[in-house]
Amino acid sequence: MDRRIRRVIAALSLLIATSVVGVVGTASPASADACYTWSRALSQGATGEDVRQLQIRVSGYPGYGGVLALDGSYGPATKAAVTRFQQAYGLTADGNAGPATFSKIYALQDDDCTPVNFSYAELNRCNSTWSGGAVSAATAKANALVTMWKLQALRHALGDRPLVVNSGFRSTSCNSAVGGASNSRHLYGDAADLGAGTQGFCTIAKQARNHGFNQILGPGYPDHDDHIHVANPGTRFWSAPTCGI
Ligand SMILES: [Zn+2]
Repeated sequence: MDRRIRRVIAALSLLIATSVVGVVGTASPASADACYTWSRALSQGATGEDVRQLQIRVSGYPGYGGVLALDGSYGPATKAAVTRFQQAYGLTADGNAGPATFSKIYALQDDDCTPVNFSYAELNRCNSTWSGGAVSAATAKANALVTMWKLQALRHALGDRPLVVNSGFRSTSCNSAVGGASNSRHLYGDAADLGAGTQGFCTIAKQARNHGFNQILGPGYPDHDDHIHVANPGTRFWSAPTCGI
């Protein structure tokens, strides 16, 4: 009897070891090449498009109430965001972006540069062209990408459980059809309306304050009892009175 149990445990251990190897294998950095590959380590003082690409990926880590500038200049705010990203994923938290940091980003992004748990299709249920909003299609799509990286940070902070986007980019006609405000950030592509998920509206709204959203609207704010609206415009506007925000 004892020997049989031992044999079962040995078989299970082998199975677990094999699965772990399998998981590591699928997180190969090579898959990131289709999106973007960093060719140098980055630290404070660096400038360039590679810094801006890094800023997009860590835009969800500006600290409470912060919004990281995507200016291609690696200043103290970028260093702090990289440090928070590293802390969130158990990496050496020195604020310098080297191979370990880039590997984690590669593992987190799809070939189209969207984070693994969000997609352009999810952020645009209006049309396939991203046109007809308040900005060019390219700008709307770029804005949505930044929002997705912020949502990925929010999702990770809340235990990596699904976070559902029910509405993202809207053309003027899509926005009118759902009764959106005429100056809605959905017209710019950077807004997302989130379902309650298993986290609950107030948990999501409160945590969102740490992930780069200048606009957070939720329960208690008119027409927002059934979703959390997050967006990234310049002026902070947080209101979810039921949640104490
Ligand atoms: Zn909204």
